[in-house]
Amino acid sequence: MEKIEQLRQWVNQSRHIVFFGGAGVSTESGIPDFRGVDGLYRQKFEYMPEEIISRSFFWRRPEYFYNFYRQKMLPLDHDPNVTHNVLARWEQEGKDVTVVTQNIDGLHQKAGSQKVLELHGSVLRNYCVSCRASYPAEFLRDAAGVPTCTKCGSIVKPDVVLYEESLNTKTLEQSVAAIENADLLIVAGTSLTVYPAAGLIRYFRGRHLVLINLDETPYDSQADLVLHDKLGNVFSKL
Ligand code: NAD
Ligand code: ZN
Repeated sequence: MEKIEQLRQWVNQSRHIVFFGGAGVSTESGIPDFRGVDGLYRQKFEYMPEEIISRSFFWRRPEYFYNFYRQKMLPLDHDPNVTHNVLARWEQEGKDVTVVTQNIDGLHQKAGSQKVLELHGSVLRNYCVSCRASYPAEFLRDAAGVPTCTKCGSIVKPDVVLYEESLNTKTLEQSVAAIENADLLIVAGTSLTVYPAAGLIRYFRGRHLVLINLDETPYDSQADLVLHDKLGNVFSKL
């Protein structure tokens, strides 16, 4: 049977679906990933991107952090693509679909998905590190230099999990529960190299594990179905 046809059948037959995605889900919306061919890691910066978006760098060089962040992580004018849209449609059609995402761009919600677990937070939420006042992403985009709280003057920080920071416990637990309960797990657009997120797929004990990614991943051999293709090519046929 053709691979896409197999996947379509499994989607139809499954009661609980988890879609576990990474940066590759949003490249077709124009947001670069980290490790793909046009990814940020292949561009030249004064520091490695992992270093810039780490907790210690944020506190040491906030001007530099925000300069990079504004250019590379904050563009807010992107739209969901066919993958985000099809996932939202399945949910609207009454399927139990949980999206567990490593992305911070908010595009699943923009497409209409309701059950979205954001393992690494979201650029759309930002807060003052002292008084916890919250700010929209536009506030960070439009601030000159380092954004500071209008109420108390402290630095405003994105609600994004930086390197050297730990994941939100509740989000992690909800993700484990959703994966444990799923009968179909679709893993897509992720190099599966960022932990602990990548380790979550070990909790799956359902029927079918499907991996969709342009490049090979360390988990290819464990999947029941592997598609090395663009997500847009796959989801436009689902
Ligand atoms: P990654 O950059 O490590 O890997 C992305 C993978 O997706 C690559 O293997 C690439 O081959 C594949 N890919 C790219 N475009 C694809 C497409 N159209 N169809 C199928 N596969 C495609 O990304 P990661 O594993 O998510 O880890 C990177 C970390 O960076 C994550 O923690 C995430 O939080 C963050 N990040 C987020 C965004 C975003 O929010 N859109 C963007 C860049 C990085
Ligand atoms: Zn404040």
